[in-house]
Amino acid sequence: MINLKDIKKSFNRQPVLKGINLKVGKGEVVTILGPSGSGKTTLLRCLNFLDKPDEGIVQVGDVQVKSKKATKREILSLRRQSAMVFQHYNLFAHKTVLENVMEGLIVTKKYKKAEAKRESELLLEKVGLGDKHNHFPSQLSGGQQQRVGIARALALNPEVILFDEPTSALDPELVGEVLSVIKTIAQEGITMVIVTHEMSFAREVSDRVLFMDGGVIVEEGSPLEIFNAPKEERTRQFLNRIS
Ligand code: ATP
Repeated sequence: MINLKDIKKSFNRQPVLKGINLKVGKGEVVTILGPSGSGKTTLLRCLNFLDKPDEGIVQVGDVQVKSKKATKREILSLRRQSAMVFQHYNLFAHKTVLENVMEGLIVTKKYKKAEAKRESELLLEKVGLGDKHNHFPSQLSGGQQQRVGIARALALNPEVILFDEPTSALDPELVGEVLSVIKTIAQEGITMVIVTHEMSFAREVSDRVLFMDGGVIVEEGSPLEIFNAPKEERTRQFLNRIS
């Protein structure tokens, strides 16, 4: 489903990704852990060219883009393969919850309004917001806003959902409701790549865990391998520091 070949990215001549190779299978849930600044978010953003890699090849679904030769059209079709859930929700403030979810269906999927409304209502039900259709984002808690963000990503029916630290802007008591929605979706077999600092969630939800540091994937394995028997010293130190 995802195949990254030798992805490199620098900002202001500082290398942030130093040659990332990664394959993610259909239906697989992969979490990315690592210290601040290790390149996790940049890697996620290279998957949809929100950050354009300097070198390497990105493949998502059946769309393959070579970073150096990428055309606008290729980038657009690559973007259609995935949907991203952001740390700060990025909802349209002047649209209601229902309209926020409908937007992608109407604009990207060309649904008729009534059809988009029906589909959006089902998705809002799924994330536990069936009673909030007509609220505006500012009238919701952070956890509820993030659940709208997840419904909006699901509406695009993407091959892959990318989560960029979906709970790190939330008050601790709101984290659980968002993680539980993500867990439910993961069980439905959607391919997911999740950058997170929530270790127990990563342990529970992941098929595979990657540990990044200094722009490289230091180690990867099953949750059991990474959390119970990490092979690399850097992984051990990171896990000891945060537990
Ligand atoms: P965190 O856990 O703190 O979110 P991260 O592992 O996700 O960290 P990135 O956000 O990928 O790390 O950032 C990696 C490095 O790249 C950091 O040093 C950051 O300052 C730098 N960086 C990221 N985006 C940009 C940008 N648009 N312009 C300049 N530097 C950037």
